[in-house]
Parts: sequence; C-alpha cells; structure tokens
Amino acid sequence: MSLPVLSSPTQSESTSVFGALQDSHGRVIHDLRISVTDRCNFRCSYCMPIEGLAWKPKSELLTFEEIFQLTKIFVGLGITKLRITGGEALLRRGVVNLIENLAGLPDVQDLALTTNGYYLKEHTPDLVRAGLRRVTISLDSLNPQGFHNLTKINALPRVIESIDVAQKAGLTPVKVNCVLIRGVNDHEIEDFAEFARLWGLHVRFIEYMPLDGPGAWSRDRVVPGREVYDRIQARFPLLPVAGKDLSETARRFRFSDGVSGEIGIIAPVTEPFCGACSRIRLTSDGKLRTCLFSLHEYDLREPLRAGATVDELITIIQSAVFRKEPGHRINARDFIAPERTMSCIGG
Ligand code: SAM
Ligand code: SF4
Repeated sequence: MSLPVLSSPTQSESTSVFGALQDSHGRVIHDLRISVTDRCNFRCSYCMPIEGLAWKPKSELLTFEEIFQLTKIFVGLGITKLRITGGEALLRRGVVNLIENLAGLPDVQDLALTTNGYYLKEHTPDLVRAGLRRVTISLDSLNPQGFHNLTKINALPRVIESIDVAQKAGLTPVKVNCVLIRGVNDHEIEDFAEFARLWGLHVRFIEYMPLDGPGAWSRDRVVPGREVYDRIQARFPLLPVAGKDLSETARRFRFSDGVSGEIGIIAPVTEPFCGACSRIRLTSDGKLRTCLFSLHEYDLREPLRAGATVDELITIIQSAVFRKEPGHRINARDFIAPERTMSCIGG
C-alpha cells in the first residue's frame, strides 16, 4: 500500500521555537491527544449517550492536512507526546497516513494510539510501517457476555486477537485500559491482573468518570483505585514501579514475584492528579480543550480555514493553555459535566 506523504514541517515549525506552552498555574504542557473522529462501532455505555447519538458531518471534521498543520504548530510549542484517539480512530480511512506523517515530525518522542481493538489486527503491519510506537487497547471484560453488555458488540475474540498481534508486532508495552463500573465488571479485577501476568501486558484500571451523557454517572458506581490496589495486592503482591514521570496519570506496579506484566491505577475521581497535568486535547472538529472536563473550548478550525497565520494560531493556543483549569471539579457540589461525551472529546 502506498502512503501519500503530506507536506513536511519547516525547520522553524519543527523545533520548540515558539516557546513552551505553560499555563497560569505553572504547568508545562507537552502531551497532545488528537481525536480524528467522533464515530465508533462500539456503544460503550460509559462513553456515549444512550439516546440521541448523532455523528458530526464530515465537513466539520478537520482534514488530515489540517490536523497535521496544527500538530506541527503544537510540536513547535513543545509538545513531545502525541496520542491518536477518537471515537474509534481506525474507522477513519487514511489514519495510517496521518500517523506516518506525525511519526516523521522531529521532536515527537512518543506517538501512540488508543483503540477499541476491533480493526487493529488488520491495520497493525501498516501502523508499524508508518512509525507507530505504542498502542493502548480498551477492554473492560474478559467474559464474552460481559463484553457485549458493556460495548453492545460481540467482539471479545477479535480484540484479544488484536492484543496478540500488536504484542508480536512490537507495539509494546501493549497497554490495556479497563474502566471499572461497580456491579458491572468489578468482579473481574483479579482476572485482569492474571491476564496481565499471563500475557505480559500493562493493564490499567481507570475510575469511571462522568463523561457519558447527562445523569448517567453516579459516584456509587466508581470503584476506587485504592480498592483495586488492595484486591490485587492480596492475590498477587505488588511493588511500585520506580522512576515514574510526574505527569503520568497511572500509578504503576509490577508483580513482586518477578512475573512480567504491570498494573496501572488511574484514579481521577478519588485521587485527582490535576496538579501535574501536562495534557491538552484537539477534538475531531478542531476545538482545543484544556481539560477533559472543560466547559469552554477554543476553536482552531475556523481560524485555520479562514487563513489565520501561524502566529495568530499560536496566540489562540497559548492564551487557551494559559487559562487551563486548575483541575476538574468532579468532587465539587456544583460540578457540571461537559456537554460532550468522552467519544466526542477523545479519551
Ligand atoms: N475508541 C477507543 C477506545 O475505546 O480505546 C478510543 C477512544 S475512548 C473514548 C478512550 C478511552 O476512554 C478508552 O480507554 C475508554 O475506556 C475511556 N473512557 C471512555 N469513557 C470513559 C469514562 N466515562 N470514564 C473513564 N474512562 C472512559
Ligand atoms: Fe467507542 Fe472507545 Fe467510546 Fe467504547 S470507549 S464507545 S470503543 S470511543
């Protein structure tokens, strides 16, 4: 398959010549999540509204050329970590070409993809050739019925096969994201730990966040990270992984008996890590979000389409980042969930 190459960055755009992206709380931003679509072939109840699902028209989505243009600017502003996400990124035709172009950007130290794994198996060879380095696969149940209940699709064997193919292709460490919901899949915590050991995977347990449409989330459905740790520790003693990057969201553990695999615990609800956040997001329709829970977003698509200069776009980005929220307010009495659900924001 031939992969068309988009225009490459100029020297001045490819190095951090524009100055670092820093917010008013002193946090330096070096991590950009790029959502390439709001569409998905799964219907995970924690990620999408149950009713009234409507995809954005194609004209509202950034083209790959536009995504690349904006990403070059972000990289020039000091972004070193890129993650492609969605919706389901592998549903968008041409995403491999985008990844190839992003992989060619100087100064990008980490390029990863988050996927539900459905189409990963067949795309893996092209993704590796394109320069993808790591992959995170979402998987919330190891039981076919449980998997279907959560995603509304019978695809557990396909996803497991994709994990296998990704591992063998060297997209390692393969990370598996598991969102825990009380009474739905929390009985599988130890099974997932065993899965991590058997396959040598990094399994990351994520607390359920209120990003699934109005009124769907409730606090009593959140499984606290501490509980996850205690339960796994009781079965497979854990040791903390040293040398953690402070901006990393997961607390990481290895197995004390030396068996391969890792456990990550991501606890944004019970143990917020906003003080060390270094992340921003670009939505598929070209909005810059400075927090998952932002109630305000900054449009980059229209200025870009109207012919804004690089300097003008930089001004929008820098002033948005400067106003980055000090933290999410999930635990505040007057918390307001964002209008967009996770599938539209890009997780
Ligand atoms: N479709 C891809 C996938 O499922 O991996 C990428 C997009 S998905 C929105 C990115 C991540 O967000 C997934 O790992 C998913 O489990 C997580 N996620 C979605 N809704 C969430 C919620 N309400 N709370 C916590 N994590 C959530
Ligand atoms: Fe789709 Fe991923 Fe959301 Fe599930 S979590 S509905 S796979 S975007």
